[in-house]
Amino acid sequence: MVSKTADISHLLSAIPNPNKLLDVMGLVTDDVFKKPPVECPICGSHEFDELTILGVFEEPVLWECGACESLHLKYDRKWLVERLEKSKEIYSNFEDWVVPPKDKFN
Ligand SMILES: [Zn+2]
Repeated sequence: MVSKTADISHLLSAIPNPNKLLDVMGLVTDDVFKKPPVECPICGSHEFDELTILGVFEEPVLWECGACESLHLKYDRKWLVERLEKSKEIYSNFEDWVVPPKDKFN
């Protein structure tokens, strides 16, 4: 199993609705898998990677099928959607940190 990390800030700014975003990212069912799914419901593969999403949670929140790249929940969808909502604030704060050009200082 490979541990992957995803930065979805650009996706979140394009698709601000976390529910829709999860669908677009490839989440296929609302079933929750505490451990990697035994078999991918889409392609039947037995290989899964774990996916951490930057700014959402410090541990992996999704399983990604190694063959068809479909995503599967490690936690409740409602919980993940709430975390995604919160991460939007974090990402928008990142933009606030941009230092203005020097000639704007007095
Ligand atoms: Zn698959």
